[in-house]
Amino acid sequence: LTFEQLPLSAPIQRALNDKGYTTPSPIQAKAIPVLLEGRDLLACAQTGTGKTAAFALPLLHRISENPRKTFRRGVRHLVLTPTRELAGQVAESFKVYGKHVSFRTGMIYGGVSEKPQIKELFQGLDVLVACPGRLLDLVQQGHVDLSQVETFILDEADRMLDMGFIRDIRKIESKLPKKRHTLLFSATMAPEIAKLGQSMLHDPEEIRI
Ligand code: AMP
Repeated sequence: LTFEQLPLSAPIQRALNDKGYTTPSPIQAKAIPVLLEGRDLLACAQTGTGKTAAFALPLLHRISENPRKTFRRGVRHLVLTPTRELAGQVAESFKVYGKHVSFRTGMIYGGVSEKPQIKELFQGLDVLVACPGRLLDLVQQGHVDLSQVETFILDEADRMLDMGFIRDIRKIESKLPKKRHTLLFSATMAPEIAKLGQSMLHDPEEIRI
């Protein structure tokens, strides 16, 4: 299987070509078709398997095919990550794979001033990559509108649970529309992850790498 055989739009194919990527990794080969169909996904995959592109490529495909205007304080696609470092890596991947797509992306994490993040949110974002604690803070202050989120992605969910983010994640989830696309990535499938998946995913496809 090559990327060219996957129904990803021309701007995405061009970015992959620029990067020199020709062949999807196993998780990408399994996840991309599932996500393009709009199905929920529960994926067990470690870092280094190419999991970031597995969700970023179909999301960017959707954005490129359906460019909708962002709206004030609104978010279309939300990625939760456990740490600022991972948030940075994920946001960077979106920029690289989305270099030929016109879209707005932003990052939210704690330990720094809220002001620039609040400013970035004001115009609305196509893709927000956020750590749960600071995001919940800004949601509760009214700086983020999650009522029209189309895609909700939990990246490294096991680490988020280990770090004690479960209550924040549940509160964030309660602000999202019931009808949405949800993806959960985790290195392990511990019982708590399965439980979280059961409560947040709708009839998910399950992938183990
Ligand atoms: P990740 O597991 O998402 O952290 O990705 C691991 C590394 O693999 C990153 O540096 C990616 O840029 C790279 N990568 C992802 N997908 C591919 C691919 N299909 N071909 C070659 N390299 C890739």
